[in-house]
Amino acid sequence: MDFTLSDEQKMMRQVAAEIADEQLAPKAEEMEEKCEIPADLLKFLAEQGYFGLFLPEQYGGAELDFVTYALMIEEFSRGSPAVALVVSVQNALVGKPILTYGTDGQKKKYLAKVAAGELVGAFALTEEEAGSDAGNVQLRAAKKDGGYVLDGHKLYVTNGGFAGLFLVVARTDPEAGGKGLSCFLIERDTPGFTVGKRFDGMGMRALDVRRLELEGCEVPADALLGAEGEGLKIALASLDGSRIGVAAQAVGIAQQVFNEAKRYAGEREQFGRPIISFQGIQFYFVEMATRMEAARLLTMRAAALADAGGRFSAEAAMAKLYASEAANFAANLGVQIHGGYGYMKDYVVERFFRDARVTEIYEGTSEIQKLVIAGNLLKG
Ligand SMILES: Cc1cc2nc3c(=O)[nH]c(=O)nc-3n(C[C@H](O)[C@H](O)[C@H](O)COP(=O)(O)OP(=O)(O)OC[C@H]3O[C@@H](n4cnc5c(N)ncnc54)[C@H](O)[C@@H]3O)c2cc1C
Repeated sequence: MDFTLSDEQKMMRQVAAEIADEQLAPKAEEMEEKCEIPADLLKFLAEQGYFGLFLPEQYGGAELDFVTYALMIEEFSRGSPAVALVVSVQNALVGKPILTYGTDGQKKKYLAKVAAGELVGAFALTEEEAGSDAGNVQLRAAKKDGGYVLDGHKLYVTNGGFAGLFLVVARTDPEAGGKGLSCFLIERDTPGFTVGKRFDGMGMRALDVRRLELEGCEVPADALLGAEGEGLKIALASLDGSRIGVAAQAVGIAQQVFNEAKRYAGEREQFGRPIISFQGIQFYFVEMATRMEAARLLTMRAAALADAGGRFSAEAAMAKLYASEAANFAANLGVQIHGGYGYMKDYVVERFFRDARVTEIYEGTSEIQKLVIAGNLLKG
């Protein structure tokens, strides 16, 4: 497989790296403390084209590929993994599914606004009884007067506090298990739709992650995305793509931890010399770098397969599984290399250590990635 980047991809990566270093990293601590991503930062990213990465020009998008998306998410994650996730959700879990499954009317209504950042989106699949078991969604969408009325709840919805558009997976057929689910595009101000409690996370504290309540929430028939019964298929296919983003995010976390630890180890002296001169410490960097490079290659492979248009579920799952473990491995050693300071908030590795943890959980836990991989590897 050829991983040579085009000049455009290299340029996009470079620009994203500059944004990460100049705009995201300097604000990351404040975003963490205030538990918010400033609206003007999101506006800036939208103006730079980062909210319409996959969308065609006619909607104001950049029409880029998964490889470029992964490169950008990796760079952004070095600056702020939370901001990178918002960008990833907007592109892979909102813009892309509307582009792929939406009607002309839905595309016209939403995509230009999504690309411009006028509408930030959210993806609402998880419920109390439907986490890893995504096919067990209970939120009910019953037919009424030519439209639907939705009742139920959603959990852990990223961007929930400020999103204007929600892709909600609901049950249209109570008897049909995973095949009885459908996707709906629901606007925030729809009567009966309430954004509830905000979750208080261990890391990625700038993320706005919410519970949703839907009570007698009436939507017209054209709120349905794709066909009835296609909800799980749409959600899982969208997650295949966004898992490339989480893998890239994990690689970016590993890279920044590596950079920070290398700088610290070059400055910190013990026994009369910089700690980076000790072979025991050098081996930590070797192990971090080897896993990080392997993770990057798996991520690029999944992205290249996605761009080639074939199936890439197992490859995306492998990339996410491995990269998220590599990020946690690196974050752990990054703290270790910083010694006592690594445990304190004085150095950013402490934040990356907490941020890395969720990459093994969201968009399907590591165990679920293994189920996806096994299902593909062992079929037949
Ligand atoms: C910060 C954050 C943001 C999130 N954002 C979103 C979002 O925007 N939209 C959204 O819909 N969801 C979101 N989620 C939800 C996330 O995707 C789920 O938390 C995740 O899929 C796991 O589901 P669960 O929490 O119910 O865990 P559970 O499914 O209860 O799993 C608990 C444990 O059991 C394991 N397990 C479960 N089933 C099996 C099995 N068959 N074999 C082996 N092990 C198994 C799991 O791997 C895990 O270790 C977010 C979560 C977090 C933490």
